[in-house]
Amino acid sequence: MGTDDIQKKLPGKQLFVALMGFTCLLMAGVILLLWWAQNTGLSGIHPLLPKVTGIVLGIVAGAILLGTFLLVMTTMLGKDILFTRILRGTVIKLLLPAIEFLGKVLGIPRDTIRQSFIAMNNSLVLSQRLSIKPDRLLILLPHCIQLFDCEIKVTGDINKCLRCGRCDINGLADLAKKYGIDISVATGGTLARKVITEKRPKLVIAVACEGDLTSGIKDCYPLPVLGILNERPFGPCFNTRVETQKIDEALKEVMG
Ligand code: SF4
Repeated sequence: MGTDDIQKKLPGKQLFVALMGFTCLLMAGVILLLWWAQNTGLSGIHPLLPKVTGIVLGIVAGAILLGTFLLVMTTMLGKDILFTRILRGTVIKLLLPAIEFLGKVLGIPRDTIRQSFIAMNNSLVLSQRLSIKPDRLLILLPHCIQLFDCEIKVTGDINKCLRCGRCDINGLADLAKKYGIDISVATGGTLARKVITEKRPKLVIAVACEGDLTSGIKDCYPLPVLGILNERPFGPCFNTRVETQKIDEALKEVMG
């Protein structure tokens, strides 16, 4: 299975890669333009200043272009070429806000950008070809996956589920048991962070909506997070769904 198959029904990483390439070219262009515009003024301060500033800004612009090239190649080849972990951090912390702004200017819906960002993040995580033991993995689920009127409280312990089959908790609890993996249901970001701090996993497979996954991926960095979007047939935060098969495929990818 290829890395794209985990999110096959969603916008792929291509949109994010294209916007990222455009943003980085724009940033490099602005840097060089600024240097060119200030060139004359700088020589008035010291004759060597334009040259020194030019070298420094040239290195910064070169690093931006090299980083973009490495990111594109890493996602295209699905292979850790160089500095993938640091590049993932750059995408999450620096490029995502810039690309969300660019998307707004271009009229691209924020959720579409986030779906593509999640696909890009997954691609970078999987390109590291991690092989993690089941006891260091954590599956994190949103509370809304549980059937709204189920009387069992599975937030503290998912194994309390009676396996009636009316919601996806049934299959997910079975899957976690099969592989011996920790699985938690979190009612919000604060509880999710608490679970991660307590369990100290090496990788998290998180199920949520675009907004929660994006902020979760940001908050958890450098901890790798594979994001799986939930389905919302009844609208947001109510009786949401996720295909157990997608989680199974993601687990097989990271368990080696
Ligand atoms: S599968 Fe489990 S959690 Fe879902 S409704 Fe049935 S008992 Fe409740």
